[in-house]
Amino acid sequence: MSLVLCTAPDMRYRTNTVGDKERGVRILITEDDTALAEALQFSLAQAGYAVDWVANGTAADEALKEAIFGLLILDLGLPKLDGFEVLRRLRRRNASIPVLILSGREKPEEKVLGLDLGADDYLVKPFSLNEFQARVRALLRRGPGGVSPVTSYGELDFDTVGRTAAISGKTVQMSLHEIGVLEILLQRFGRVVSKEQLVEQLYSYDKEVSHNAIEVYVHRLRRKISGAGITVRTLYGRGYLLDYISH
Ligand code: CA
Repeated sequence: MSLVLCTAPDMRYRTNTVGDKERGVRILITEDDTALAEALQFSLAQAGYAVDWVANGTAADEALKEAIFGLLILDLGLPKLDGFEVLRRLRRRNASIPVLILSGREKPEEKVLGLDLGADDYLVKPFSLNEFQARVRALLRRGPGGVSPVTSYGELDFDTVGRTAAISGKTVQMSLHEIGVLEILLQRFGRVVSKEQLVEQLYSYDKEVSHNAIEVYVHRLRRKISGAGITVRTLYGRGYLLDYISH
């Protein structure tokens, strides 16, 4: 059941929040135990966090490449790609988001491996929701930039929870696809993203994103962010890159 629920392409962006009381941080839960995942999701949403949930390692890897999260809750025993591999790939991309491992594995060497791979904390199942929440709060307090939902480059502020962009404080109207392209490029600011990667990652919005359509979204996006001091560069045959405008 969890697989059916969570491999839906659009699941990655089904963010749950409780009101607007504390739209602070976007958290990704990777857990294949549906009952536990729902309990964690509910508990975090009650606390005011925006929460996304995926049920296998591949979906987690994709979601982490695609969107900007303030915290990752990571189970180790996962279908498709285990938690260690998700973590290894995440840290190889130099992503510095805090990671809390949840695991039924109590062997000390696994805890050591998890921490060595770059996890920030490790919680052995079963645990109380109170302890879970306390650990989440602690990680968010010390997480590098993890507390701020806004990532800024030049004059552009991107709200990773609300998925909105503003230039010099003024909201920029963008379509879902334009926001999607911007989010992916921001995630890899200064690095090349191929057209294939964009096509693949925008697949979650609908089934028909062609290479030509990507060119259109990039063109519109470039125009819309033109006042922000950053731009989308085209590297022919290689892809796109978000970069500062050099003078
Ligand atoms: Ca598991």
